[in-house]
Amino acid sequence: MTTAESRAPGPGGPGETTLLPGTPGGAWRGSEYIASLKDDREIWCEGRRVDVTGDPGFTPMLTTLAGLYDAQHLPDRAEQMLYRSETSGNRVSLSYLAPADRDALSRKWANSHRWAESSHGQLSRIPDFMSNVVVGLYDFRHQLAEVDARFASNAENYYHYARENDLTLTHGLGDPQIDRSATPAQRPELGLRVVRRGEDGIVVRGAKQIATLAPYAHEVLIYLSPANYLREDPSYVCWFAAPLASPGLRVLCRSSYTGSGGLAGRYDEQDAMLVFDDVFVPMDRVFLLDDSQVAVRGFAELNKWSLYTGQVRYYHRLRTLLGVASLLAQAIGVNKFRQVTDLLGELTSYVEIVRLGLEAIDAESRPTASGLLAPGSTAALDAVAGRFSSRASEIIRQIGASGLIMQPSEGDLGTASLRPALDTYMCGREMSADEKSRIFRLAADLAVDRFGMRQELYETWNRGDPARVRSMLYDRYPDLRRCEAGARDLAEGRMDHT
Ligand SMILES: Cc1cc2nc3c(=O)[nH]c(=O)nc-3n(C[C@H](O)[C@H](O)[C@H](O)COP(=O)(O)OP(=O)(O)OC[C@H]3O[C@@H](n4cnc5c(N)ncnc54)[C@H](O)[C@@H]3O)c2cc1C
Repeated sequence: MTTAESRAPGPGGPGETTLLPGTPGGAWRGSEYIASLKDDREIWCEGRRVDVTGDPGFTPMLTTLAGLYDAQHLPDRAEQMLYRSETSGNRVSLSYLAPADRDALSRKWANSHRWAESSHGQLSRIPDFMSNVVVGLYDFRHQLAEVDARFASNAENYYHYARENDLTLTHGLGDPQIDRSATPAQRPELGLRVVRRGEDGIVVRGAKQIATLAPYAHEVLIYLSPANYLREDPSYVCWFAAPLASPGLRVLCRSSYTGSGGLAGRYDEQDAMLVFDDVFVPMDRVFLLDDSQVAVRGFAELNKWSLYTGQVRYYHRLRTLLGVASLLAQAIGVNKFRQVTDLLGELTSYVEIVRLGLEAIDAESRPTASGLLAPGSTAALDAVAGRFSSRASEIIRQIGASGLIMQPSEGDLGTASLRPALDTYMCGREMSADEKSRIFRLAADLAVDRFGMRQELYETWNRGDPARVRSMLYDRYPDLRRCEAGARDLAEGRMDHT
C-alpha cells in the first residue's frame, strides 16, 4: 500500500478527518517519516532503481531529515514548531499554518528560523518551503474558483490533507532543457501537458526539470513558472499534485554526492528530473487547467510565504558562510589584516542586508483577499541573493587560499607517525591541526567542491532566472516615476517641490 493510499483523504470536506484509522497523523516523527517512504516510487540514480530507505547514497540525508522531524517534538521546541489542528486536534507543523494575524505570522516565522537554523541553512528545500506553497495555494482558492469551483474546493481540501498528514513536497516548475528557442507547438515534448481528460481526472505526459528533494518527498506539486505560462495550447497549463509513487512517474536523480563525505555526507538533498509517462491524476488533485492568465497571476501568489521562508533559510546559510570565513582568518592569523577585515566586513554587510530585509518585508505584511496575512515582496532580496552568495564563496576562497586544498584528512590526523609533522606544520595560529583542518575542509565543502558549487548554482537559479527577477523588479517598481521626476528636476535646475 502506498503512502497516499494509507493516508488518503476521506470523501468529506476539510471539517472531517482526512486520515484513515490507524495512521498517526500530525507532524512526523523521524522513524514514521522514513517508514512512510517505503512505497512503490520509482527512483533512479546512476542507472539503478533505488530504495531511498536503504540505499547508502540516500540514507544519510534521510537520517538528517528524520532528525529534523524528531527535533520538532523536543520539549523546548514543540511550542515553537507545532500547533493544534482545529479540525483533528493533532499537533501539526507550523509550516502549514495559514496565518490570519500578526501573532500567527510571527509564530510561523519563528518556526521557519528553527528549521533553517537546525540545518545551518544547508538544506535549501527543507519541508518548510513547500508547505508554505500549499498555504499559498489555499489562499489563492477563490481565484481558482473563477475558473472552476471544483479547483477551489480541491485546493482547500488539499491544504487540509497536506497539513494533517504533514506531507513533504517537492515541486518541478521548469521545462526540460531541450531547446529554449523552440515552442511546444513545434516539439510537444518541451512541456508537460494534459493528453487525456475525463470527469474522473486527467492524464499528463512530459517532464519537469528540476525537482529538489524529490526522492524524499511524498508528493509533487506542479504549477507553472512565469517563463512558461503563456502557451499557445491550453493543455500545457495544468496545476496538480501527485504522489511520488504514482504509476508512470519516474524520478531520475543526479549522481549522489553523499559518498564524498563532509557536508555532502549529511545534506545531499538531491535534485531530480521528473518523467511523467501518462500519469493519471484524479480530479480532486487538479487545481487549475487551461487558464494561463490565472496561472501567471497565481505563481506569485502561491509563493508569497515560501519565498519569505526561502530568504530565512538563505539568511542562515549566509551566517554560516560568515562564521566559516571568520574562523579561517583567525586560524592562520590574518584576521587583523586590513584587506581581510574589508572582505569580512563585506560579507557581514550581506548578512545584515538580508536580516534587515526580512524585518522590512515582515513589517510590510498585508491582508490577502482571502483574509490571511502575507509578507511583503521579497523581490529585491531575490534579485541579489545569487550575487551575494557567489561573492561570499569568493571571499572564502580569497581568505583561505592554498589552505583550502592543503589540509590533512581524518586518516592523516589519526596516524601516529604523521602527528609530529602535522602538529608542527599544519597547525594554525593558536589552533590545533585537527581544528584547523576541519574548518578548512568545511570551507572547501562550501566554496570549492561539488557540494558548494551546487549550492551556489541553487542560490543563483532557484528563484527563477535572476535576469527576469531583476527586470520585473524594475518594471514594477512603484516609486520609479518619482525617481525620474526628481532626476528631471535636477537636470533642469529646479528645486525639490515634493
Ligand atoms: C540546484 C538547483 C535546484 C533547483 N531546484 C528546483 C526545484 O526544486 N523546483 C523547481 O521548480 N526548480 C528548481 N530549480 C530550477 C530553477 O527554477 C531553474 O534553474 C531556473 O528557472 C532557470 O531555468 P533553467 O535552469 O532551465 O535555465 P534556462 O531557462 O535553460 O536558461 C539557460 C540560459 O539561457 C538564458 N535564457 C533562457 N531563456 C531565455 C530567454 N527566453 N531569453 C533570454 N535568455 C534566456 C538564461 O538566462 C540562462 O542564462 C533548481 C535549479 C538549480 C540550479
